[in-house]
Amino acid sequence: MQRIASLPALSLVLCTLAATAQQPGHRPPHRIVDLTHPFNQRTVYWPTETGFQLLRGNNGVTEKGYYYAANRFAAAEHGGTHVDAPIHFYANRQTVAQIPLQRLVGEAVVVDVSKACAKDRDYQIGVGDLRRWEEQHERQLVDVIVLLYTGHGRHWPNRERYLGTAETGPEAVAKLHFPGLAPEAAKWLVEHRSIKSIGIDTPSIDYGQSQQFNSHVTLFQHNVPAFENVANLHLLPTAGATVVALPMKIGEGSGAPLRIIAMLSE
Ligand SMILES: [Zn+2]
Repeated sequence: MQRIASLPALSLVLCTLAATAQQPGHRPPHRIVDLTHPFNQRTVYWPTETGFQLLRGNNGVTEKGYYYAANRFAAAEHGGTHVDAPIHFYANRQTVAQIPLQRLVGEAVVVDVSKACAKDRDYQIGVGDLRRWEEQHERQLVDVIVLLYTGHGRHWPNRERYLGTAETGPEAVAKLHFPGLAPEAAKWLVEHRSIKSIGIDTPSIDYGQSQQFNSHVTLFQHNVPAFENVANLHLLPTAGATVVALPMKIGEGSGAPLRIIAMLSE
C-alpha cells in the first residue's frame, strides 16, 4: 500500500524539479547553428598573413599517470571567422574589448544576394538589395545584425576559389575576387538606418577588388563592427534568428577570432 501511495508523491517531486529547471516564459532555442569556421591549418587568412598556428605541447600521459593536453596558438587578428573592431579602419574608435555587447547579440536578418554573386564574383551588394529585404519583410533595417549571404562561403576553405587566388604575399592582394558590400550601401546604412553590426560570408566586408576599403571606413566611423568569413548562412531564415557573436576579448585588438552562433526558435 505504501509503495503505491508514494508514486504520486514522487512524480510531484519530479514535476517540481522540471519546473525549476525551466522557468515559465523561458523558451529554449529549437536549434542552434554554428556560424563559425574552425581554426586549423586550413583556415583562410589574408594573403599577407601566415595562417593559424597550433603549437603542440607535450600531450599525453604524464609521469604522475594522468593525461594532460595543452597547446599554444598564434594567429593574426584578421583571419578565419573574426570581428573587425571599428579601430581597424578609423582612428580613435572602439577596440575589440570596447565593442558594446548590445552590438554583438540580437536579431539577425539575412539578405540573400547569392544569385547575383553566383553570376558575378566581384558583385557589390547595393542599396537596392537591402531595400528589397525591407520591402519583402515590411520593416526597416533597424536594431538588427545584418548578415549578407553571398553564397561564397561554399568555397571555404579552398583558397583559390574563396579568395580568387591561392597566391600569398603583397602581390596577391590585387588578385582577390569575392563579393562585398558597396560603399554607397554602407553609407546608406549608417546615414538612413541604425544597425547593430554587419556580417558577410566572404573574407572582407569590402569586395576583393577594393582599393580604398570605403565600406570598412564608413561603417567603423559610426562604430558598426563587421563579422567576416561567417559560415553556414544558408541555414538561417531571412529574419527571426537570434545571433550571439562573441570575439576573444583582446584589450587593444583591432580584430579578433569570433565564435558566432545563431539560435532559431523553430
Ligand atoms: Zn578583418
